[in-house]
Amino acid sequence: VATEPTLPGLDSSKLTVTKTTTPKDILSSDELVFGRTFTDHMLSIEWTAADGWLAPRITPYQNLSLDPATCVFHYAFECFEGMKAYKDPNGKIRLFRPDKNMERMNKSTARIALPQFDGNALIDLISKFVKLDERFIPSTRGYSLYIRPTMIGTQRTLGVGPPGSALLYVIASPVGPYYPTGFKAISLQATDYAVRAWPGGVGDKKLGANYAPCIVPQMTAARKGFHQNLWLFGEEEYVTEVGTMNFFVAIKDKETGQKELITAPLDGTILEGVTRDSVLSLARERLIPEGWKVSERKCTMKEIASASEEGRLLEVFGAGTAAVVSPVRNIGWRDRMIDCGLKEGEEAGELAARMKDWIEGIQYGDESHPWALTI
Ligand code: PMP
Repeated sequence: VATEPTLPGLDSSKLTVTKTTTPKDILSSDELVFGRTFTDHMLSIEWTAADGWLAPRITPYQNLSLDPATCVFHYAFECFEGMKAYKDPNGKIRLFRPDKNMERMNKSTARIALPQFDGNALIDLISKFVKLDERFIPSTRGYSLYIRPTMIGTQRTLGVGPPGSALLYVIASPVGPYYPTGFKAISLQATDYAVRAWPGGVGDKKLGANYAPCIVPQMTAARKGFHQNLWLFGEEEYVTEVGTMNFFVAIKDKETGQKELITAPLDGTILEGVTRDSVLSLARERLIPEGWKVSERKCTMKEIASASEEGRLLEVFGAGTAAVVSPVRNIGWRDRMIDCGLKEGEEAGELAARMKDWIEGIQYGDESHPWALTI
């Protein structure tokens, strides 16, 4: 049996840098719109099935040039990540749990026959890219640099098969706080006519193909005056995710009064959010000693509705990189409106507010923590 020769892996020492000759203006904080403006440079690494990973390049931010038959345009060979770089009060740059994004991206690429890569080598390259474009990272609290690693299949073919070539690239966009004037509780419409993900599907991978089909349910919710849609699964109507965030609900037990923080389990239908994992770890470390129970378990709309009716629904929030946590005021479900426990005039429950403080404290360097990688 012929053994395949080991192909070159991602090698950050082979990086070449071509700096821009036309540096962009830095927008003022109030002009930043999420994902609309980008830094001066980008990082690109090509891969071929014959030669493995080629030398990484940092170049001026620029268009890609691809043949119209390139497989990404026809069969959606694309996956991506979303992560952020923050500036601490001393001007040091911090990445938040980048190893988690690398791990998740390798799971995504594996599922769509794109190549694996060395996560540490990509973190090293991203660090060099972010340092080069450091002037774009706003230093105000709440602001950050959103980093978008992307991988696409680049083989020029209409044949359906594993791409013989791929491009891994990283771009970055300065972003403002999700809630510039502090928390704003959102309202959700439970989507009962479409599903985002299903067992055995790819909803737990960060594939571009998972996102386009979510826009119509989102628009439908928006037309009815809701901020986001809430994804349910199955006849039981298990609650899975809030738009593009993971879902958390805090309930008091009917008999014992035990307070429980619940999120859906990673059963293949949920994206493994880095924020979800962070909320769970902090809850286990800091809330269990206060008497909370923390559960990764299925929870139905019915359970949430009953808890609300009986005054046992403490709070509901979404969790994701963009907002950290996003408190929920109410959920439209069939012809009912479920109150999620916020008091009149209140924009966030106690748990959501504490989680946001804890996580941002680590991100911006108020607290030194192994989750922050100073670069
Ligand atoms: N669910 C979905 C469907 C998402 O797109 C995201 C955003 N990546 C999340 C959850 C939250 O994940 P993270 O905390 O890693 O941003």
